[in-house]
Amino acid sequence: MTDLLIIGAGPGGYKAAAHAAKHGLKVTIIEEGHVGGTCLNVGCIPTKTYVHSATFEDARERMAQVVPQLRQGVEGILSHPNITLVRGKASFVDAHTVSTPDGQTFTADNIIIATGSTSKMLNIGPLPTSPRGGEGCALPSSEARLSPSGEQGRGPVVDSTGLLQLDALPKRLCIIGAGVIGMEFASVFNRFGAEVTVIEFLKECLPALDSDIAKRLRKQMEKQGVTFYMGAGVKSLSPIPSPVREGGTREGTLVFFEQKGKELSVEADVVLVATGRKPRTEGLNLEAACITLAPNGTIPVDEHFEVAPSNLPEGRLTDRTVSPSGDERGALFAIGDVNGKQMLAHAAEMQGIHVVNRILGIEDNIRFDVMPAAIFTSPEAACVGPSEDQLKEQGTPYECHKSFYRANGKALAMNETEGMVKLCTEPGEGRILSAHIFGAHAADLVQEVTAYITLGATLQQLRDTVHIHPTLSEVLIEVN
Ligand code: FAD
Repeated sequence: MTDLLIIGAGPGGYKAAAHAAKHGLKVTIIEEGHVGGTCLNVGCIPTKTYVHSATFEDARERMAQVVPQLRQGVEGILSHPNITLVRGKASFVDAHTVSTPDGQTFTADNIIIATGSTSKMLNIGPLPTSPRGGEGCALPSSEARLSPSGEQGRGPVVDSTGLLQLDALPKRLCIIGAGVIGMEFASVFNRFGAEVTVIEFLKECLPALDSDIAKRLRKQMEKQGVTFYMGAGVKSLSPIPSPVREGGTREGTLVFFEQKGKELSVEADVVLVATGRKPRTEGLNLEAACITLAPNGTIPVDEHFEVAPSNLPEGRLTDRTVSPSGDERGALFAIGDVNGKQMLAHAAEMQGIHVVNRILGIEDNIRFDVMPAAIFTSPEAACVGPSEDQLKEQGTPYECHKSFYRANGKALAMNETEGMVKLCTEPGEGRILSAHIFGAHAADLVQEVTAYITLGATLQQLRDTVHIHPTLSEVLIEVN
């Protein structure tokens, strides 16, 4: 018997395990792949290694060093005497019991599901995986690529995991989707020297970002050489016809799409499908724990990330463990990408910490409504709080305050003059509601504003705070 059972050792799961163990709980954590999850193995860390490498070859080399080093660090954290790390795929037997394929079973009052997400694929039928394959076939699942067995998708149509496994820089990369993952890879592969085309269904990239900021970032990336087709829907993909290939001059994939009623196509050596991520619940046998998925595939949870009783089938409530707030038998929680609330590594971590605090009866003041996010393009973009577009839609009264990097001494000294800050406040320069920034080190600047918003500070209090000169952070107090 263990106090807490956690399924998945990504940032949500392993941080929760460490926090619980530190507070004296006996924890069992089950992981079917590498510890560190998507973030460490095929997400945040590898992509940021690419962002901070000069060439594709350097990036490959550094990723091969950085990822195992960090993985070792996580294994070190999980070697705490209160933590048992079990290798295997977990599956529910009932609401208190989980088993692994080698026949082990584990029982706990409190169980945290932290199984993360996988890439969403395009709904346009079969995709080609090999330029020589002739007929199209389905892209291998990301589960396979996250597994320690090292199965890899190396075809010309890949998801983000497959792209990180390419041995050579593609000459022409076509990216379907201008969300965070698509934009980050567009920026970095363009810098490495690939010819990058991005096709996006929506009118503007990065829908969570202020549309003004998103447009400026896209224009900047266009100047750097990335080609964008916005408001364009991909219709089909097909391998380049055999006669052409046999001529020895062209191979790859043709991406057919429609923009403003016109049929267009792009040729690419590699196609990255970056159309979002979906919760990972396959094989968990959630029915045994009486958990019903929401129509979008997420595990529905309440504001404390407890699997909401309202989502359980009627009459089954007594089968289920419930709640630090109710039944003494404990509860089922779902944190991180699998609940679909905020698909970010730091959101998963903080949700895990909050759940453990609930189990321990510790009050915390984590503000899940103040969730900063960054896009590590060149230059960066980052945001916290609602965009100006969202404030307008909600009918929330606000004031918008702007400043530009070109007027900041440090930005000029760094030759990083492209950038803009947008702060929205309550009317009368009241409490700060949000910050949307594009420009060098935008993530760091947004982090500062996140602290002000969390503490309910006003724009005047931000202005009254002494900022080191010369720093980029002065751009915040330079807003109009
Ligand atoms: P995961 O990290 O996905 O971990 C889940 C773990 O559960 C995995 O290790 C999996 O093997 C395991 N698992 C699943 N099912 C089972 C089972 N049945 N039994 C046992 N184990 C199981 N976020 C950021 O905040 N910043 C970034 O810069 C950033 N960049 C990203 C770049 C890319 C290319 C991608 C794909 C994602 C990026 N993200 C980023 C998102 C971030 O990786 C995720 O939000 C984060 O990893 C979610 O953490 P998690 O713990 O919920 O799940």
